Amino acid sequence: MRRKLAAGNWKMNGLTASLSELTALASAHPDPAADLLICPPATLIAAAAQVCAGSPLAIGGQDCHAERSGAHTGDISAEMLADSGASAVILGHSERREDHEESSEDVRAKARAAHAAGLTAVICMGESLAQREAANTLNVIGGQLSLSVPDKSTAENLVIAYEPIWAIGTGKVPTTAQIGEVHDFIRTHLESRFGSDVGRGVRLLYGGSVKPDNAAEIFSVPNVDGALVGGASLKATDFSPIIKALEESA
Ligand code: PEP
Repeated sequence: MRRKLAAGNWKMNGLTASLSELTALASAHPDPAADLLICPPATLIAAAAQVCAGSPLAIGGQDCHAERSGAHTGDISAEMLADSGASAVILGHSERREDHEESSEDVRAKARAAHAAGLTAVICMGESLAQREAANTLNVIGGQLSLSVPDKSTAENLVIAYEPIWAIGTGKVPTTAQIGEVHDFIRTHLESRFGSDVGRGVRLLYGGSVKPDNAAEIFSVPNVDGALVGGASLKATDFSPIIKALEESA
């Protein structure tokens, strides 16, 4: 049985005062029936990990460098994230693939670094609207899976987030059939590449405009093991009903 996972991506949002959202979330969910992960900006990771110590809320980064250390001004290594109290890192988010021209090979190198530092890599992938309209979605996802996911991945150190680019921050959500088709495809790919134990154990998240009012429907789709949530993870009052919907789907 895969344990469900609700993950929040705060992106470039959040100042010290936002830590109170974590306190509120932790006290609203003292014993959740799902894993909970919040990925605040790097500036808040250490403080967030401190605030959440002893609670079920895990803390993650939003990116890491592929190297362990060195002359990379402004970058953060996976080891630094772990040292700050992170247990996971989001990699290959479409905003990084676009804004920073990250290729799937870059993402795989970062994921290897994350694994070496003991972090779970939450690897994101998804098609653009043009790719979906050209009926190219599964080709795109297949390519991103093959190239972004390291060979030594396990059910514990890998989470895949399917995030159609056109659904991120837009309020547009694919149909449950569209989500199901991609999640089934990812599951089949992982099983054939890694064998059934690992392939069936990796958690698959859906991401893209998940909100309190659509979460239950999305979580009813087979092979959806949780969500990666952007905007609705910033406030405990929005994220909490999404967590509840996930717990009820378990
Ligand atoms: C995201 O950026 O990972 C995301 C899913 O954002 P939103 O929930 O705001 O669409």
